[in-house]
Amino acid sequence: MTAAPCRLCGISTDRGLSPRRKAGVADRGTYVVGVCEDCASLRPDEPGSAVRAVLRLIGRPEGDWSVLVPVFGQRYNVGHVLYEATDREQPSEKPWSHVPEDVLSALRALYVGWLANRVANGAPDGSAPSEGVQRCPDPRGGCLACGVAEAETWHPLTTGALTSGPEMISGVLCGSCGDALETTGAVGPSMLERAFLGYNGLEWFDDTRIPRLRSWVSTGHPPGEPWAWVRLAEPAKTLEERVAALEAALAQMGAGR
Ligand SMILES: [Zn+2]
Ligand SMILES: [Zn+2]
Repeated sequence: MTAAPCRLCGISTDRGLSPRRKAGVADRGTYVVGVCEDCASLRPDEPGSAVRAVLRLIGRPEGDWSVLVPVFGQRYNVGHVLYEATDREQPSEKPWSHVPEDVLSALRALYVGWLANRVANGAPDGSAPSEGVQRCPDPRGGCLACGVAEAETWHPLTTGALTSGPEMISGVLCGSCGDALETTGAVGPSMLERAFLGYNGLEWFDDTRIPRLRSWVSTGHPPGEPWAWVRLAEPAKTLEERVAALEAALAQMGAGR
């Protein structure tokens, strides 16, 4: 039985054998290489096989391969991880043993850098959004009211009431803010208060006032977490003050008896 090195990982295989011309300027003859069973799933005859091989080597999903071509391509010629690039004719004992650890570390670092950059830019880590959740369809990237970037439903809205200027803007509201709008019936402070309190698990009352509660679209804040620019410190302090006032009143009632 004829065996040859797998041209991707280097182990001995009798599958997919084909002659290869030796690398170099002069014609140095040919030798035989194959493709082992494991590496056949890297689709070695299609574009991107070297990138897929790298992803498999560093234990990452191979489905990301096309977005990673420029990432790896700028800093490292990934073709070099393939056994055929080593120009060796003898199979190796262990798959990928020809790839030095420092090269693997460098490739891992490139991948992690790419991942960190995506996360910093508000993109998910290459995974699909969770089921039923859709990214904001508006180019601004967030719900006009709360700024959330992903929601189960989106409602188109044209309004002049969420910005300080007189001009109308068109965008979308997330499902929660859309519900708040449906309840209040008009875009404005009450709707924002209701949506904000609802997000914080609090009830809205007719006399609820949250001074200077601004819509996301008027803040210039990046999309992502809802209401990220609003600090709850002020309402909490107000609540403490109310409790203190109530306790003082109770103490007076007690003293007056
Ligand atoms: Zn192989
Ligand atoms: Zn919203």
